[in-house]
Formats: sequence, C-alpha cells, structure tokens
Amino acid sequence: MKIHHLNLCTMCPVGGRLISGGHRSILDAGEMVVHALLVETAREGLVLVDTGMGLEDVRAPVRRLGPGFVALSRPRLREEDTAVRQVERLGFKRDDVRHIVVTHLDVDHAGGIADFPDAKVHVHRREHAAAMYPSTLSERNRYRKVQLAHGPKWELHDDGGDSWFGFESLKVVADDVLLVPLPGHTRGHSAIAVRADDPVGPDWLLHCGDGYFFHLEKDDPECCPPMLRKFQATIAVDDAARRANAERIRELHRQHGRTVRVFSAHCPHEYRALAETERDRSGRLPD
Ligand SMILES: [Zn+2]
Repeated sequence: MKIHHLNLCTMCPVGGRLISGGHRSILDAGEMVVHALLVETAREGLVLVDTGMGLEDVRAPVRRLGPGFVALSRPRLREEDTAVRQVERLGFKRDDVRHIVVTHLDVDHAGGIADFPDAKVHVHRREHAAAMYPSTLSERNRYRKVQLAHGPKWELHDDGGDSWFGFESLKVVADDVLLVPLPGHTRGHSAIAVRADDPVGPDWLLHCGDGYFFHLEKDDPECCPPMLRKFQATIAVDDAARRANAERIRELHRQHGRTVRVFSAHCPHEYRALAETERDRSGRLPD
C-alpha cells in the first residue's frame, strides 16, 4: 500500500526549547506539526488517518477551534495545508476518501472530518461518547461540537479485538488498518496501525496520536522538554494510564523498532524523517 505523510497544520506555541527542545530561545515559538496519513488501499479506496484542521477551521478559527486553543497553540492555518486540499493536490477527489480513522476527537484531530462528509468515520466507542456526552469540564472544553455538527457517518469500535505485538487491536479497514486502544490522553484515545509491507522498511506504521509528543520519549532513558512534559500531564484525562501506555509504546519501539515504525501526531522530527523517506522512495520510482 502506498502511504503519504501529510502535515495538516504547524502550531507555534510559545516556549521555544521548553516545548521543542534544541537550542532555540524560550522567547521563540516552539514547533508542533499535525501529522496525518493518507493510505492508498487496493480495495477500500483512500483511508485518511487523523484529519487535523479543516477548511471551516481555517475560515473561522476562534468559532471552530475555541479561543483558548487558538491562543495557546497559535496554529498557522492555511487552506493549502488542509487534508482535502492535499488529497486534491495528489490527484484524487475528496470522494475517493472512503474511510477516516481518528486517534481521538480533540480539535486538532477532528476538524477535517467535515470536509469528507461521505466517508465512514472510525473511532473507539469511548472516544465518541466522550465527545458527544462530555462528563467533566475539561471534556466539555476540549471537544468542539461545531466540528461534528454535520453528522459524520460514525463507525464505532468496541473492545475485544485480537492481539497485535501484545496490544489489543480492532480491525477497521480489512486487515490493513487497526485501531489500538491507548487511553489516557482522552477516554478513548487509540493508536492506529497501518500495514506498510515495505520491502526495504518496516512491516507496520503505528500512528500514536497524542500517546506521546517528542521523539526522544521513545528512548531509554526517555527525554522530553519540560513544558511539553507538563502539558501532556495536565491535559490527560487519566495521567497514570497515559504514562503506562507511553511505557508500552517505548517497549514496542525497543523490541520491534525495525518491524513497527512508531511516531506521534505532533513531533516535527518524526514527521520530517518519514516525509523525507517517502520523497526519496517516490523519487526512485519510474513514472
Ligand atoms: Zn493533538
């Protein structure tokens, strides 16, 4: 299957190296991407993994994303970066996207769903419940009903799947795209495994959503800039579960890093490395 790596929006929160590491001043902006996948499948059309910010979010950011999110994350919103415009730039129509699979329904993951009204939208049942019936103030603040008001064609997935490298996995699109529940950041947060079958690369990609944020968190010992660490703990609905699942991701990376390529939604280092590999690969292919 051909897999495209897309950055749907770059966010520039304050905090410099306290957010993004490196040597930048703490007065400079940090950098966070919104990493999504577009998967070309043989029988099920295009599958979009996470949807970032959509056209309406670009047109009316405060109304759609909320004033708090806009002020803190400072997203650089550009129509050309939205999933629908990138799908079109790759030569497809929006209707070619038949499935959307989302890690969770926070504003920076669910905004593009409305741009593909005919696609089936796959999500864990607990995440759908959290977004539709938020039970705490933080859940009421983090989900934006306006992004989902058009009535997506939901396909809800329950617990009880097969074992995949020691994780529970729920088949979403054939045997090629799996939902891997990793709660903590939100109630029904999940990673998404995509079969890559890459003859010179990994067998699987694992999009970990907001299961961790910084590439060096996969290392042993792990490392994360301090503001980003604090931010992750603060916004988690269940921080103990989040930390336990981050440890499981680390273990997967340690044991099966060659077979499963793990990455998170917002790390620019991981995004650039994967996008570069994709560019090199397509450069070598004949037209
Ligand atoms: Zn996020």
